[in-house]
Amino acid sequence: MKLILLGAPGAGKGTQAERLSKKLEIPTISTGNILRAAIKNGTPTGLKAKSFMDAGQLVPDEVIIGIITERLAEEDCKNGYILDGVPRTIAQAEAMERSGIVFDAVVSIEIADEEIMERMSGRRVCESCGASYHLAAVPPKREGVCDSCGGKLVQRKDDAPETVRSRLEVYHRETEPLKAFYEKRGLLKPVENQTTVEDTTQAILRALGR
Ligand code: AMP
Repeated sequence: MKLILLGAPGAGKGTQAERLSKKLEIPTISTGNILRAAIKNGTPTGLKAKSFMDAGQLVPDEVIIGIITERLAEEDCKNGYILDGVPRTIAQAEAMERSGIVFDAVVSIEIADEEIMERMSGRRVCESCGASYHLAAVPPKREGVCDSCGGKLVQRKDDAPETVRSRLEVYHRETEPLKAFYEKRGLLKPVENQTTVEDTTQAILRALGR
């Protein structure tokens, strides 16, 4: 199963990707997590990406295309994967198509901008492993501590309200056109965000016929 998860920043792609990854036994590939790790490790890619990310802008397509083609060629991707946060532009989708990367389905998580603005203030991520939590919806067992690795939970710089607003603008302008792109290819499966995380996972699995 080769799957793309589309949706606005804060739609719950990361959370759903982790859950689907366990159920379907395939890895999640998140370009956001790869870039945050690169920044933390001070690699050349990290240095290039940091200012774009802090401002809530997209990292240039050529950087992303390099990262993703390299990552998808790794051994653990051969039975499938879930892409979280990539492709984010038509250029990225076309580049993947040109490299012969094909998908079984593209799930788009549908949620209103106002709900996202409300949600983002509660999001926390693990600074060590990138796992995602929400103070109300997906709280960690111990406050401020990652359930999986014991790392420290922090608020992402780009989750500040002004940055969330510009990320939503970028989403509508650059990423939303991907829905029409994949609709044309018969792959798009829109799924309404549900009240609970589990209900949304179930809705996605139903849309995938699982
Ligand atoms: P995310 O964790 O998916 O919300 O990504 C955080 C930030 O990383 C985004 O706001 C972008 O600056 C950058 N980023 C992640 N994935 C991509 C991508 N596919 N294309 C461009 N920028 C990306």
